[in-house]
Amino acid sequence: MKLFFRTCAAGTDPLADLGENDLDFIHWDDLARRLPPEGVLRRFPTEEARLERLVAVRWPEEISCPRCSAPNPSRILTRGTYQCRKCRNQFSATSGTYLHGSRLSLAMWFQTAESMINYRAQVPRHNIPAHALSDILGCAYVTARRVIKLVDGDIRRAGTKILSTAICEKTADAPRPADELRDYRPLMEGQATAQHDS
Ligand SMILES: [Zn+2]
Repeated sequence: MKLFFRTCAAGTDPLADLGENDLDFIHWDDLARRLPPEGVLRRFPTEEARLERLVAVRWPEEISCPRCSAPNPSRILTRGTYQCRKCRNQFSATSGTYLHGSRLSLAMWFQTAESMINYRAQVPRHNIPAHALSDILGCAYVTARRVIKLVDGDIRRAGTKILSTAICEKTADAPRPADELRDYRPLMEGQATAQHDS
């Protein structure tokens, strides 16, 4: 990300006068670099592992009831759900989110987010075409179109960030090769562009 920051006076925000397109590009580039290099389905190989990852993302400290906030719910192992000891509410890591009650597997949701992030890191202004995603998931075109819309609301810059937080883990560090930045040359030319890594 340092590549994009202009030299600026101390105390000023280096992102302050970047346009929406620049900020989007930085967002997609950052997410793509933080995807697991081995792929999401190798990183989270089972539905149980993927559900556990969602639990860890939703409740980084301690699992608590979404209704009354009481901690330490009892676990209903067979259904991947919890029951609140105080208000008896039954809930899971997806309760209250767009993933709740979906007939699609978490594998498909994780793969969708991964595919969409990778695509937008290359083509920042457009979502992956629905036919391409339906090929990847092996699902109907209309399903792919619906899923793209839902996941877009998650992974975009001001999104809900459920899946993007779950699958984008590591800190972005390695700079991308300069030839991948050619489309963004206008940002870097004619301005006091900082290329240094200090
Ligand atoms: Zn409760």
